[in-house]
Amino acid sequence: MQSDSRVFTCACCGNSQKFRLAGYPPRLNAMCPTCGSLERHRQFTLLLNDRPDLTKGKSILHFAPEPTLRKGIETVAASYIGADIDPNRGDREMNIEAIDLPADSIELVICNHVMEHVDDTKALAELHRILVTGGVALLTVPLVEGWPTTYENPSITDPAERLLHFGQSDHVRYYGRDFRDRVMAAGFDLEEFVAQEPYVGQYGLLPGETIFIATKR
Ligand SMILES: [Zn+2]
Repeated sequence: MQSDSRVFTCACCGNSQKFRLAGYPPRLNAMCPTCGSLERHRQFTLLLNDRPDLTKGKSILHFAPEPTLRKGIETVAASYIGADIDPNRGDREMNIEAIDLPADSIELVICNHVMEHVDDTKALAELHRILVTGGVALLTVPLVEGWPTTYENPSITDPAERLLHFGQSDHVRYYGRDFRDRVMAAGFDLEEFVAQEPYVGQYGLLPGETIFIATKR
């Protein structure tokens, strides 16, 4: 099936090679075979390379910390917490709906593909509470730009049904472009870092995938 012979550069580990299929359903050229990075991890690294001010010398809270991103972030941070609801995965067990940290204590939160698993009203309020004014949350979610509103249906709880409706067995919604309204309603200003050429072809990104840069007002 994989007839694509293009070579991509991995922004995370620096190697240039063919990438692998990954995901459900599988995506071509998704995974770096050396470090395991996916499209969004490489895009994230490109953003951080462009904007070293986001991480350098900052107090950072990283939810569901991806190993391929963590190393580069932790080394430049003033302080770093890798947090996860699963105690086996992070440095600290933490529920994003009720974060065990004081108000105004964090300068950068990284939160990739977490909001679609949780009560996002509670989670966004908590991110706003723990961030300092002017602090930033970097957010990515599965999002269909063609949908004006997010698709949610609380009656769908069966994992197989959730897979069908929301794209993964433990997702509770599929965002439409109103994701932006939810973030702004929680007290954030928004910028967007969108995957486009020449980065898409060079680094193997998903065209149009967006990293939301949410700044606490
Ligand atoms: Zn890599």
